[in-house]
Amino acid sequence: MQTVPAFDRIGEENAFAVLARATELAAKGRDIINLGIGQPDFSTPKHIVDAAIKALKDGHHGYTPAAGIKPLREAVAADLHKRFKVNVSPGEVMIMPGGKPTMFMAIMMFGEPGADILYPDPGFPIYRSMIEFTGAKPIPVPVREENGFAFSAEETLKLITPRTRLLILNSPANPTGGVTPKSEVDKLVAGLEKHPNIAVMSDEIYDHMLYDGEQHVCLLSYPSIRDRLILLNGWSKTYAMTGWRLGYAIWPGKLYEYARKLAVNLHSCVNAPTQYAGIAALTGPQDAVTKMVAEFDKRRKVVVESLNKLPGIACATPKGAFYAFPNIKQTGWKAKPLASALLEDAGIAIIGGPDFGVLGEGYVRVSYANSTANILKALERMGEFLASRKAA
Ligand code: PLP
Repeated sequence: MQTVPAFDRIGEENAFAVLARATELAAKGRDIINLGIGQPDFSTPKHIVDAAIKALKDGHHGYTPAAGIKPLREAVAADLHKRFKVNVSPGEVMIMPGGKPTMFMAIMMFGEPGADILYPDPGFPIYRSMIEFTGAKPIPVPVREENGFAFSAEETLKLITPRTRLLILNSPANPTGGVTPKSEVDKLVAGLEKHPNIAVMSDEIYDHMLYDGEQHVCLLSYPSIRDRLILLNGWSKTYAMTGWRLGYAIWPGKLYEYARKLAVNLHSCVNAPTQYAGIAALTGPQDAVTKMVAEFDKRRKVVVESLNKLPGIACATPKGAFYAFPNIKQTGWKAKPLASALLEDAGIAIIGGPDFGVLGEGYVRVSYANSTANILKALERMGEFLASRKAA
């Protein structure tokens, strides 16, 4: 059997492996607290679930257009206009089976041997995995603690070469919770105007999850890069819909047709009732989103305060998403052995920073998508562990 070498280069997301191990330990009767998971611990709001049930009862059982049903694409365009005052036509919106397929397609469109693709490090691991899959060279853009885990326009622009094809941005960011300020995005876009051949993929899946009065900066609001901007977004995080597999992309120009054809070849369309649920999510009441974000905000403060009391741990206050990314360098532990020992010996699932890139060493990702009571219990156990165990 001869398979193509690309499959030996493809990576994955260790968060799924940690989840599997945590579930296995819990099934054996261990008390495991999961702060590793990247999904809201809330149920999808009832009116959204009801819309999917109604769609099934109304007979929406068949294929839809590959790009998604028109009322959903219209709802996405209207939502983007309402929130960011940007004009998007429903014909630019493509409904996708989650957020991930957009990065998959975008990286496939630009990656090949000889091409460079810039991506955030630490960052969502699928970016690098897919870049390597295509044979392109992954060029990490450092995301630094001393910069509030925002990306630096200057540092990003310096990494551009004639081989650069695509720049991947993510704010609010996984795994750091970092939010890049508008002034920095302005600078970056101004710099990109000198590089008209570089496409930009902006992953804005956490755009509702901002704290301390931060306002989301949507890359669609920059006309000078609009003709080469791919926007990735979706319902997974905002509406607690990770298992529904519903996302969307805004594709510029000919990329739309490329993506539509890829969809026809790959998944045909997103399942019909889920698309109706997506309409209810965008056009219905938003109070469940507001409540969820307010709850995350409360937990964020608890997580940061509790982590900062632990020996050797220093945690900056994240401004977005639902992750804290504490610095563990003073504990003497390397991040992955610490995450592994915490799971096996203390029953706490977190993710080692290196699972998000080489610059993640010295950090761990703590998700606060769990109850305050569980967070407090987990961090108390973590304190006892650090006080009693020598670094491995
Ligand atoms: N982008 C980022 C930054 C994420 O953290 C995630 C999920 O963890 C995704 C995209 C993927 O979202 P989805 O589950 O909708 O594919």
